[in-house]
Amino acid sequence: MSLPLVGMDLADLGEAIGPDQPPYRARQLYQAIYGGQAAELVQISALPAKMREELTARHCLGLPQTAHRYDSADGTRRYLLRLDDGRTVETVLMPEGERDTICISSQVGCPVDCKFCMTALLGLERSLTAGEIVGQVLLVARENHLRQDGGRLNIVMMGQGEPLLNLPNVVKATRILLDPAGFGLSPRRITVSTAGIVPKIEELGREPVRPKLAVSLNASTEESRRELMPITRKYHLRDLIAACRAYPLRPWEKLTFEYVLLKGVNDSDADAHRVVKLLANLNAKVNLIALNPGPEIPYRTPEPERVEAFQRIVRRSLACFVRKPRGLDIYAACGQLKRYSER
Ligand code: SAH
Repeated sequence: MSLPLVGMDLADLGEAIGPDQPPYRARQLYQAIYGGQAAELVQISALPAKMREELTARHCLGLPQTAHRYDSADGTRRYLLRLDDGRTVETVLMPEGERDTICISSQVGCPVDCKFCMTALLGLERSLTAGEIVGQVLLVARENHLRQDGGRLNIVMMGQGEPLLNLPNVVKATRILLDPAGFGLSPRRITVSTAGIVPKIEELGREPVRPKLAVSLNASTEESRRELMPITRKYHLRDLIAACRAYPLRPWEKLTFEYVLLKGVNDSDADAHRVVKLLANLNAKVNLIALNPGPEIPYRTPEPERVEAFQRIVRRSLACFVRKPRGLDIYAACGQLKRYSER
């Protein structure tokens, strides 16, 4: 068995190279893996050849393998990545004018059964390790020459899975990604999105190093949310909003609420007014997204005029943006990550 190094923090790496080595060796290795974007262990020239040899006997770098890459007409790239145990998961790169966003997965499949999302149809296969979460970023950044310090790169944990049901690994990965001595991303540039796991929102709020928080709201009443997101039976909308009110935002931070618009289901003017009421006095912005359709998804996409009307109402009280779909032609858009291979 060769143990992957990606995902190890400084202390883990210190153990991996052994107690006889001076501490700066672990720091060199840490810097080479996360800051230098090394492709292979043998390339880490900062370490003496003998140490590299000893390391390769017991360890591998442990980046995921690209099983397939799908390139969209709009520039979006969907990576189907193969993990150590042969399972596959998806990562999406969305290049845009002044920024690049990598959308990463936190689990293989997802245990939360939102009725409008194709990933839900996979069920949960397993949670990703911290290394598999960081590995997605390292691989896509290296392959596309994306730099962490240029102010262009954003990471969103909005791929397959419910990140807050894999919180320890998500937090460990985030620490490495945000560590100036590690990957070195700014804390403003990484966001975790949740279906609303209330106790885990509280737990995340207590973490000193954490991503920004986005909450998938998707409904304006308790009843309608229960239908669309059955997890609401366990974690009520009321309690979710209460947890958001209690959430300790940093001075520069706002909560994001995502709202997928389903034609004739949750997209009326009355829904928009109720969303405004629900979010009253929260330091928040709203991202609207018209449903990305998919086979087996029993909802329709509202017309652009309806989306605009909804936005106009919310915008009177809160910052409100419409997210445009990316990579629809390659099944890379929100809610479509179910490892489709056909065009
Ligand atoms: N489990 C997490 C993160 C993954 S989902 C969460 O629920 O937030 C990421 C976002 O995609 C969520 O806001 C979700 O509501 C949205 N989404 C899911 N299916 C969609 C679809 N078919 N069309 C548009 N957005 C969708």
